[in-house]
Amino acid sequence: MNQEIKFRQYLETKTKLGEGTRNTYISSLRNLKKHLKTNSSIKNIFEYEKFEDFHKALSFITRDLEFKRINNRDNGKHKASTDYYLKFLKINNKTYEENDEAYNRDVNDITISEKDRLLLINNNQKSIKFSNSNTKKLLRDPRMGKLCLQQAKYKCEIDSSHLTFISNTSGKQYMEAHHLIPHIYENCKKYDRHLDLIENIISLCPNCHRAVHFGDKKTKNEILKKLFYIRKELLNKNLQINLTFEELLSLY
Ligand SMILES: [Zn+2]
Ligand SMILES: [Zn+2]
Repeated sequence: MNQEIKFRQYLETKTKLGEGTRNTYISSLRNLKKHLKTNSSIKNIFEYEKFEDFHKALSFITRDLEFKRINNRDNGKHKASTDYYLKFLKINNKTYEENDEAYNRDVNDITISEKDRLLLINNNQKSIKFSNSNTKKLLRDPRMGKLCLQQAKYKCEIDSSHLTFISNTSGKQYMEAHHLIPHIYENCKKYDRHLDLIENIISLCPNCHRAVHFGDKKTKNEILKKLFYIRKELLNKNLQINLTFEELLSLY
């Protein structure tokens, strides 16, 4: 099924938009490319199937002067339509959540030597910015996740009284590592750096972890608010990432 039809179904079933608005958004996306002046590498919007690709393209699109002009003229409808398309791709691309599960299996299984531990702490690519590096790879090192669990003493950072069970492989209480700024954003202009860093990783019990990925708006809001205040200063101080709560919410 093509993306335009899938997107139409998404608007019909997952949003409360009326038919007129839905049609307006679809035609906005259909015609968007021909308005763009600056970047010829932008594809037709409905050719984007991966969240990461469209997210990256969007950072160019929204800076395009002609995009800004028509968006102002049309009361923001083009920005609204691209935002809906991004949300649609996020829901459709289940891969991030699936990978998260496999990643946490590795985190749980892996052991880190003392040497590696010191290396990870001291040389954890904090200073690497993507603009001067070629390694634009979306990889998460399970040892970094493990280090986070160790530092959190295998407790849930939402509430240390959350109990789970003893893991068969680690012999410690089972916890999961979660990236506060999802690492799929690490190629985007705003952060432009590795996000697989201890400052950005949080130890969560499986219940809180599922909730932050699959909870309703209110649930996510509550959990993210706590996590935001736990990490805000560290992200700012060590990684120079100045995050507002609204921004963090928009990444989920
Ligand atoms: Zn996660
Ligand atoms: Zn918890």
